[in-house]
Amino acid sequence: MVDSVKENLAAAGNTVSRTLNPVFRKGILVATNNGATQRFVYRYGMRLGASRFVAGESLEEAVPVLKELNRKGLRINTTILGEGVKDAAMADGVTEQYAIVLQRLVDEGINGNVALKLTHLGLTIDAELAYANIERLVKQAAAANAFIRIDMEESARVDDTLAIYKRLREAGHDNVGTVLQSYLYRTEQDLRDLLPYKPNLRLVKGAYLEPESIAWPQKADVDANYVKLADMMLENNSFTAIATHDEKIIGHVQRRAKEGGIGPYEFQMLYGIRPQYQLDLVKAGHQVLVATPFGPDWYFFLMRRLAERPANVLFFAKNVIKR
Ligand SMILES: Cc1cc2nc3c(=O)[nH]c(=O)nc-3n(C[C@H](O)[C@H](O)[C@H](O)COP(=O)(O)OP(=O)(O)OC[C@H]3O[C@@H](n4cnc5c(N)ncnc54)[C@H](O)[C@@H]3O)c2cc1C
Repeated sequence: MVDSVKENLAAAGNTVSRTLNPVFRKGILVATNNGATQRFVYRYGMRLGASRFVAGESLEEAVPVLKELNRKGLRINTTILGEGVKDAAMADGVTEQYAIVLQRLVDEGINGNVALKLTHLGLTIDAELAYANIERLVKQAAAANAFIRIDMEESARVDDTLAIYKRLREAGHDNVGTVLQSYLYRTEQDLRDLLPYKPNLRLVKGAYLEPESIAWPQKADVDANYVKLADMMLENNSFTAIATHDEKIIGHVQRRAKEGGIGPYEFQMLYGIRPQYQLDLVKAGHQVLVATPFGPDWYFFLMRRLAERPANVLFFAKNVIKR
């Protein structure tokens, strides 16, 4: 099994130089659900490359990493990796773990917050369960003057996620934000529907495999929509997180900021991706947050990072072949 996965990874690496990124991205995201790939990557992945994107498998391992990022002038958010849960007891367990993380951030004086996925709190079992769990955490965070970001997952979860976000805001919870994805055709309307809430939104391009019927297949369209949505957010949101490593887009926002007339914003990037650029932006006077996840369930997160950039797979494949 190991040999066949090695061959596949090496082949993927070779093919990358000849094929277009979208084809490659799709290939990796499809391979993610393959049992052999999953077993292999789980077995060797942390040593071979996941540690570049993940701050450890436990909170104990993550805390020093988070503190070091703060020391460098970067804000952080942290996430316990994992997405689906099988039953309500597991969802409650994850909620309890997040309660511990929130308290630990306060105790350690860490400048940052928590970002989480509603499926991890039970969304696929029961939306009411997910609502109860997120509301519990949002209340706890409010008492500590802290904030919670609800990540956006695959398209099948967008309606429920936005409904829960709106319900929280209607219940008077203001220390919560969510995420919109520029690759979805629907997002501009979703944003318009959210604007009356004066939302705190993170804008991303989108990390999941979505069909052309609902998402732009071409990167140029996703990027153009990102800029359009970013402008709308910067002009209307209570806070906008520009979450991308794309220099062109970041340059656009920097120009808008210089011109003035936009609301508060920060740049957000992922742990391990363009770390020098993160520091350069801090040096230039910008607020930068680094999304820094941890936990033993890092597989799907890692595969999305590999899919985003052929060079990451080459790096991973080289480490595998070296063994
Ligand atoms: C803080 C944060 C939170 C996110 N939250 C969500 C979420 O809730 N839901 C969701 O669907 N997606 C989320 N994403 C992922 C996002 O949708 C994109 O998949 C990811 O950010 C890559 O796209 P990009 O904007 O950097 O642009 P791209 O055009 O893909 O990349 C621009 C440049 O950034 C660098 N780069 C990008 N990705 C990588 C990588 N993996 N490794 C190395 N270099 C890279 C490369 O230099 C590349 O040329 C999040 C991203 C960030 C930064």
